[in-house]
Amino acid sequence: MCGFVGIFGKNDVAADIYTALLTIQHRGQDAAGMVTYSTRFNLKKGNGLVRDIFKEKNFSYLKGNIGIGHVRYPTIGKGTVEDAQPFLVNVPYGMSLAHNGNVINFYSLQEKLEDERLRVLNSTSDAELILNILADELTHQIPFAIRGVFRAMDGVFKRVKGSYSGVSIIKDKGMIAFRDPHGIKPIIFGRKGDSLGFASESIALEILGFKIERDVLPGEVIFIDMERKIHHKRLREEKHSPCIFEYVYFARPDSVIDGISIYEARLRLGKELAKRVREESPNIDLIVPVPDTSRAAALALSEELGIQYREGLMKNRYIGRTFIMPYQKKRQESIRMKLTPIKQELNHKNVLLVDDSIVRGNTSKEIIQLIRESGANEVHLAVSSPPLRYPCYYGIDMQTRGDFIAADKSIEEIRKLIGADSLIYQTQEGLVKAVSGKLDMKFCTACFSGEYPVSLSEIDREHIERDRNRKQDF
Ligand code: SF4
Repeated sequence: MCGFVGIFGKNDVAADIYTALLTIQHRGQDAAGMVTYSTRFNLKKGNGLVRDIFKEKNFSYLKGNIGIGHVRYPTIGKGTVEDAQPFLVNVPYGMSLAHNGNVINFYSLQEKLEDERLRVLNSTSDAELILNILADELTHQIPFAIRGVFRAMDGVFKRVKGSYSGVSIIKDKGMIAFRDPHGIKPIIFGRKGDSLGFASESIALEILGFKIERDVLPGEVIFIDMERKIHHKRLREEKHSPCIFEYVYFARPDSVIDGISIYEARLRLGKELAKRVREESPNIDLIVPVPDTSRAAALALSEELGIQYREGLMKNRYIGRTFIMPYQKKRQESIRMKLTPIKQELNHKNVLLVDDSIVRGNTSKEIIQLIRESGANEVHLAVSSPPLRYPCYYGIDMQTRGDFIAADKSIEEIRKLIGADSLIYQTQEGLVKAVSGKLDMKFCTACFSGEYPVSLSEIDREHIERDRNRKQDF
């Protein structure tokens, strides 16, 4: 999971891109970057949070009315500063690109590109790969024409497999926005007067005063020319499979993706979960969310069951989301630093904790322990999504089966391991029904169901899993 923003305005866009990046910081805390174009590309990127990378002095050279920003959460690649986005190339045009997602045939494509001596990659980032493939496709479309951009993007869609939504600038030609043929990752299109913008989440544009026009469609390419005239074409019409985990966990509750409000989806997840809690009927007198993502689900669950809702855990906002910190050690160390119990609320109570998901189980175990230490009589856990069992190859840091406690354990075994009095999961049907609401939508649910919208070759799967294991050993 990463986040990006691209703005083509009338005046300098760097300050707006900075604000938008702060708004989507939750999508990646590993690195941040920005490129603007004036008479040349002006680039600033590095490892760390947005507020740490960009200093006031940087804005004196981040000039230009067209720009791209990115926050990174590493999936493929080493996660070094060389892998930070956006990337630049010079041939056939000066170009820049940033994306969100994961190219699942990265290793095959990289080998082919280098074997054929077409291009040399200087990083292990799939954004650099996509940019070079796009540049390679554009060399076959000289002289420049808008239909050539669509043909080049068609070539990208043919060659690049996986999930990738992103934006690219072509020097003195315009800005391209694209979404992979299955539309796995989000990309929203908005407008403020003469300014046009794209972002991973609607809130990143709305905070700047943009009005949301629509989502970019799966397999669609939007090209904004130098007069800021919009040209768009849907090049592929595969089954739309947006990531359902965006609604469960990743996206901000104040965002809307593919027409579905994240907050409302989470309320509905709570309502659905209430059915499961009623079936299991644990003895509870208090509902407590694990902050922040499960608040809406816990609130709806409490309303549905008529059981008191309390904030029993406080979050230290200045420590990153544990789930997306890159390495296991950091994750384990930071859970107790991140959450503290309000003992007065928990003492002598039978608590039903509500969380959005269980990945490895370490977090749940520690939180349950914390609640018990605070004097709770019983600690039950209800989870607003089903058991995570299958790797995600599309941009989330759970790419090996070893990442999941539910991969080879029954619910009863998990309950014992995490130390809960009872453990209640959402069903798969409940998940899809809650997220889609009244819309007739299909989703990528691969990490829950094992049904992958884009298949992966055995060689590429081995490469990805080896890469992940190497990072965990780091
Ligand atoms: S596998 Fe899961 S996390 Fe990955 S894109 Fe699909 S739904 Fe999202």
